[in-house]
Amino acid sequence: MPAAPEPDILAAFEAAKGFMPVDEGLALYAAAVEAGRLGLPLLEVGTYCGRSTILLADAAREAGVSALTVDHHRGSEEQQPGWEYHDPETVDPELGLMDTLPTFRRTLHKAGLEEHVVALVGRSPQIAAFWRMPLGFVFIDGGHTDEHATADYEGWAPHVAEGGLLLIHDVFPDPQDEFTGQAPYRVYLRALASGAFTEVSATDSLRVLRRTGPGV
Ligand code: SAH
Ligand code: MG
Repeated sequence: MPAAPEPDILAAFEAAKGFMPVDEGLALYAAAVEAGRLGLPLLEVGTYCGRSTILLADAAREAGVSALTVDHHRGSEEQQPGWEYHDPETVDPELGLMDTLPTFRRTLHKAGLEEHVVALVGRSPQIAAFWRMPLGFVFIDGGHTDEHATADYEGWAPHVAEGGLLLIHDVFPDPQDEFTGQAPYRVYLRALASGAFTEVSATDSLRVLRRTGPGV
């Protein structure tokens, strides 16, 4: 049986604003619990309002490690005002810019998981540029343009420890199914082609790969 979150954690996850369906969330959680056994931090790119972060934080708590979550909190292209995935509640009224950080903090606090999470606020490539620590788990769920998805892969995949997991969200092999482009799919293909990662599982658009070799 794969590890599953306790009912209160699952309820907090389901109540949180965001873009992670429940079945994929359960697969994400099980992978995070497994990777947590390596004793290394779990890292997410794409915090938004903390929906998936709740699951990583709970897995981190269980493993006695930290969940790290990267976002500039200004939203992806498709989340900006006028676009399909825009939520007016995410706009800072003073600046007129998206700011998902306050909602994220509220969400993690209410779930009782604040102390297990470190929020890294900034652009993913800028943070990755000075990263040195091996990670047990990297979950890529950030920007969906080729520029952003490629930079997330190049910035973070090299830090996945041997035996650790690389997860990619919004992988749509069929262009008929995709909502925001196929860049995550191209990154997934690149990870497999590198020879450094082997596919473990697929749940809808979530892919779980294990680091099985060098050469990212
Ligand atoms: N994991 C979330 C959804 C993430 S949405 C959930 O479960 O609901 C994607 C997020 O990636 C957005 O919040 C956006 O601000 C962030 N993002 C996009 N490009 C980024 C970049 N280059 N650096 C940091 N964050 C980025
Ligand atoms: Mg996503």
